[in-house]
Amino acid sequence: MALRLLPNAAPVPIPLPQETSVIPFPGKTYPRLHLSPPHLAGGEIEALRDTLDSGWVAPAGPMPIAFEATVGVATGFSHVAGVASGTAALHLGYRVLDLAPGDEVWTSTLTFVATIAPAVQMGAVPRFLDVDATSWTMDPDVLRVALAAAAARGRLPRVVVPVDLYGQCSDMDAIVSICERWGVPVMSDSAEALGATQRGKPAGSGAKIAVFSFNGNKIITAGGGGVLCSEDERLVARARFLASQAKEASAHYQHETTGYSYGLSSVLAAVGLAQLVALESRVNARRAIFARYVEGLADLPGVSFMPEPNWGRSTRWLTAMLIDPRAFGAERETVRRALDAVGIESRPVWKPLHLQPTFRGAPLFGPGIATGLFERGLCLPSGSGMEPSQQARVIDTIRACWRG
Ligand SMILES: *Cc1c(COP(=O)(O)O)cnc(C)c1O
Repeated sequence: MALRLLPNAAPVPIPLPQETSVIPFPGKTYPRLHLSPPHLAGGEIEALRDTLDSGWVAPAGPMPIAFEATVGVATGFSHVAGVASGTAALHLGYRVLDLAPGDEVWTSTLTFVATIAPAVQMGAVPRFLDVDATSWTMDPDVLRVALAAAAARGRLPRVVVPVDLYGQCSDMDAIVSICERWGVPVMSDSAEALGATQRGKPAGSGAKIAVFSFNGNKIITAGGGGVLCSEDERLVARARFLASQAKEASAHYQHETTGYSYGLSSVLAAVGLAQLVALESRVNARRAIFARYVEGLADLPGVSFMPEPNWGRSTRWLTAMLIDPRAFGAERETVRRALDAVGIESRPVWKPLHLQPTFRGAPLFGPGIATGLFERGLCLPSGSGMEPSQQARVIDTIRACWRG
């Protein structure tokens, strides 16, 4: 591929995003296998061409509206605001919930930093809750005990933020009913779980706000983007207002508060819209990949997989496995390095936020299940476009690490 920057200049070669790596079969090279690369649905180029031809490229016009409406159908939410990223949607969520400096925000410790980063940047105090071993998501029993204690102290959190992990919903019905008792709103970080269900309802259902991401590694991508969803029309309208610089209705740019430049470009909305048609098939593909990993590895001693509770259906956005080093005869890191050496990306399960230096001093509520999952957990390549032959290389490489 090459790009001509100026009419008379020589074309500049654009390197492809994959490095190649040599694996120890003579004469064979494979492109590096990534954890969750984007998977094109086919209609993206046409949608992009139509968008550019229409002249609507800014975060306004028919494309973002169509994208938001389609996300509304996929998630079951009545009101959806498309924004520049999942992190931006979380930030707006904290703003519309009136998070103030010194307020506490409670979230699951087993998550990506973006769940809590905007709150901390707003001056909030983070508190981390342990996960349930049967779902790897926020443990409702820990939440119940911690909220009762917080109420007794007279210092409730401003918001509770459960996280749908690796495509698996948190136990939203339980979490919402516990929080309702104390009048604490719930914002679901469902960035990783578009297409998942909890008791037959789409991810995030029941929360005051749910946030999804359309980053390049998610199950459906816009090349970058996010949405804030709610049943509360006023909250979504407020988020939209803040996302476009908090301009009051007047020709001279009147401001009662300050906002952000968080709009979703029409160009990205077009890509996201073209991708959304494939959601169901992407969920099925990721679940099939998970099933093949189980079939290929579960007989090994010391190997297990992220459980799926009977109240939910995960998308298996990422397949996560656990390696017990004593039974398996090798550490998780040994396996990760062996995969890396043959050009296969894998990653430890999220490092719990209570162990991150930036949140030093923030306590963990609960027994520390998440810490054990981090020590033994490994996320495997799970892209919906992965070929069975590629997946067989992953399985063979892991099997070769077993010291029986
Ligand atoms: C990806 C992700 C985000 C952030 O989404 P972006 O669109 O990348 O900003 C937030 N939370 C979780 C749990 C995520 O996995």
